[in-house]
Amino acid sequence: MKQLVIITIFILFQVSVFGQSNNPCGTQLSQDDYNSIKTTLLERGSIGETKNISNNISPIQTTIRVKLKAHIIRRSNGTGGLSNLNFQQSIQQLQADYVQANIRFEMCEVNYIDNDAYFNEILLGASEVTMGRENIEENAVNIFFVPNAVFTANSPYAINWSYYPISLANNLNWTIITNSYATDGGTLSHEIGHYFNLIHTHGPTSNSNEHVTRNSLKGCLKNCDTTGDLLCDTPADPNLDPIFDWPATAEYVTKKCQFVSILSLTDACGMHYNPDVKNIMSYAYNCRSHFSNGQITRMREAITIDRPEVIFDIPQNLTITSVIENGREVYSALNTINASNTIEATGRATYISGYQINLLQGFTAKYGSVFDGIIGSDCNPIGINPIYNEVKREVNTTTHTLNENDVTIYPIPVKDKATITFSLQNDVDNIDIGLYDLTGFLVKKLAKETSYKKGKHNVILDVSGMKPKVYVVIFKTSEGERIIKKIIVR
Ligand SMILES: [Zn+2]
Repeated sequence: MKQLVIITIFILFQVSVFGQSNNPCGTQLSQDDYNSIKTTLLERGSIGETKNISNNISPIQTTIRVKLKAHIIRRSNGTGGLSNLNFQQSIQQLQADYVQANIRFEMCEVNYIDNDAYFNEILLGASEVTMGRENIEENAVNIFFVPNAVFTANSPYAINWSYYPISLANNLNWTIITNSYATDGGTLSHEIGHYFNLIHTHGPTSNSNEHVTRNSLKGCLKNCDTTGDLLCDTPADPNLDPIFDWPATAEYVTKKCQFVSILSLTDACGMHYNPDVKNIMSYAYNCRSHFSNGQITRMREAITIDRPEVIFDIPQNLTITSVIENGREVYSALNTINASNTIEATGRATYISGYQINLLQGFTAKYGSVFDGIIGSDCNPIGINPIYNEVKREVNTTTHTLNENDVTIYPIPVKDKATITFSLQNDVDNIDIGLYDLTGFLVKKLAKETSYKKGKHNVILDVSGMKPKVYVVIFKTSEGERIIKKIIVR
């Protein structure tokens, strides 16, 4: 009896593991679309050999910022859907995978779609299209996180898919991610790769006819510039999906992410494959972590040429002088915001800056207004509370005490000690200097209602023993001026 149970379990196991494809990518590329992409890339000179430099795009040292719009599908009553924690993990993984391409996603807003029908099932080419067209933001990369996306109605196998820029003609311009794949370490980055013109390393169809050779030796011609993913710096790939094309018993990517060469597995010229199992555009699901240089160039070109509308332009520095009367205004800068404006009682303002926010002479947040100051790099970063928030009392900066460059902190990053230097244009009675974490929690008081004379002063900031992370120093004068400055503790 015991033996029978074991055999039964074994058979079930076989069915569940080998009886279905576990291929989570459903992005399709018809032969016509493939030919069309090929023609476009050929005209662009973006095919074949490794390209680190393109005349079409900014150099790799320049960050390309892409606006991202995330949509989370929940039940009609607002419950369910991807958890905030998993959502954050998913976006963080995406950001990390695209650091090498110097592409950064700027997320301005999360859109919650509360709809039971969409919650239960999103069907390719059907409910997908309705949901997408109802909710898409044209000037952004749109990602829909859904509980269950399928190719055919009631299919038990949820998948993920995306569209190449070529599909823009159909106005299908988004990525669909099934929640269970949101944090699997690769699927989202892979789908966004398609969105930016990347083809699977094994080519457009289930199996590549790309030759292994890159130098046309022994009578076998290289064809990496005319077939497969049309790139020569990604090795020929036989399709690494464990069961898609090869016998179920053929395990050719080990758990340690090493390719196991099988004698019978060769290209048309009889050469053995040596694919890159870590390439994000491969089907080696648990191993994927990088793009090739050619893939990076192609993605940066796709954004610059095919989807320029998704590029998120924010200035290095911003000076805000206009009155905010009502409604919500969001201002973002990469480095510094200098504000000397008024926020009326009915106004709501959010200032987001990468390093520093200066509330200078003239800045007024009236009683009843909402003002948030955020040190961050997204236009509305998730998980980061306003580091500076004044709603309780009127802030009115009347006296000119500080210039925006008057507060410096050196060195940054800080290892043990840093010096905060500031100079005052007149004697000041009450100066507060505090070190806060990014949730707005006061970690250390450096000066409390301290009097300083006109002139230059130094305050020592000791961070020894503190957790290495990002903090902000908030410098306040009794006249209402504020300097909010990011520091990194190592
Ligand atoms: Zn794919």
